[in-house]
Amino acid sequence: MTWTDQARNGRLLIVDDAMENIQILNHVLGEEHEVLFAMNGEKALELAHQHQPDLILLDAVMPGMDGYEVCAALRASSDVRDIPIIFVTALTTPEDETRALEAGAVDFITKPFNVAVVRARVRTHLTLKRQSDSMRELTLTDALTGIANRRSFNDAIQNEWRRCARSAAPLSVIMIDIDHFKLYNDAYGHQAGDTCLKAVADTMLQCAGRSPDLLARYGGEEFVILLPQVDETGAQTVAERILASVRTLAIPHRMSSAGDTVTVSLGIATLMPAKGSDPEALVRCADNALYRAKKDGRNRFCVEDCDQG
Ligand code: GH3
Ligand code: MG
Ligand code: MG
Repeated sequence: MTWTDQARNGRLLIVDDAMENIQILNHVLGEEHEVLFAMNGEKALELAHQHQPDLILLDAVMPGMDGYEVCAALRASSDVRDIPIIFVTALTTPEDETRALEAGAVDFITKPFNVAVVRARVRTHLTLKRQSDSMRELTLTDALTGIANRRSFNDAIQNEWRRCARSAAPLSVIMIDIDHFKLYNDAYGHQAGDTCLKAVADTMLQCAGRSPDLLARYGGEEFVILLPQVDETGAQTVAERILASVRTLAIPHRMSSAGDTVTVSLGIATLMPAKGSDPEALVRCADNALYRAKKDGRNRFCVEDCDQG
């Protein structure tokens, strides 16, 4: 993929109070990119939240909310914080430039426009945005299984904890651990172990992969599922589905005491986040339940009553 191809198809938001400027920029950029427009700061914020553009071209001087204020508002909001902003300004003193960069702009373009410069700057920043998006993706994804990693689980449980607390809804966590996986590696080799991990992750994703549910690899052969707004009964249904789906994979495991095939053990915990406890307590509870499932013979789930733990 060439540099130009990478920058293509990015979504731009152009913010300017002068129709003439919008027309020029649309002419320069509209062919190569998807372009949205706003003629004031409030509309710009609305469109940014709604459409999540890859790059914003922001007029510094506008009546009402000016570019600096729009910039500050964008930076203060987590869902649009990382969208790069190029300031577009007729003011060109070093102080203006400094002020734009300090407000959080990645670059600026001076009016009157030079078409080639506008195009080149936009391409560069779209390419950089794409690269940082994929870096972010990599840091939140487990390389072997392709599902979320522990770090994204930790982020998600913090968010869902607050959300469930606000709406007085339950939050459930299921910890899952493959049974006798060390013996599986010993018997079939580490490579087969990796393939098995992937297969188990894939089938569990079918059981609980739809947002806002989140399946993550917690580490080694241990997985975790976050189930927002799901009570204990609902979590048990998911656990039963997972037990069944892993059994259905029917991956032979001649060394297991829990069956002839690969199986998993699960621990379930549910809390009402409003109760003054914390997400760590919820994970700890699920872990205790998992420990009991192992002790009771594996290939099963146990439920922990968090209110007593
Ligand atoms: P239990 O039923 O009590 O959970 O027993 P276990 O053998 O599954 O648990 P234990 O914690 O003793 O061993 C976990 C094994 O998982 C050891 C480790 O080599 C293996 N493992 C962890 N991560 C990976 C991986 O990425 N690939 C492979 N192939 N094996 C892994
Ligand atoms: Mg295990
Ligand atoms: Mg383990």
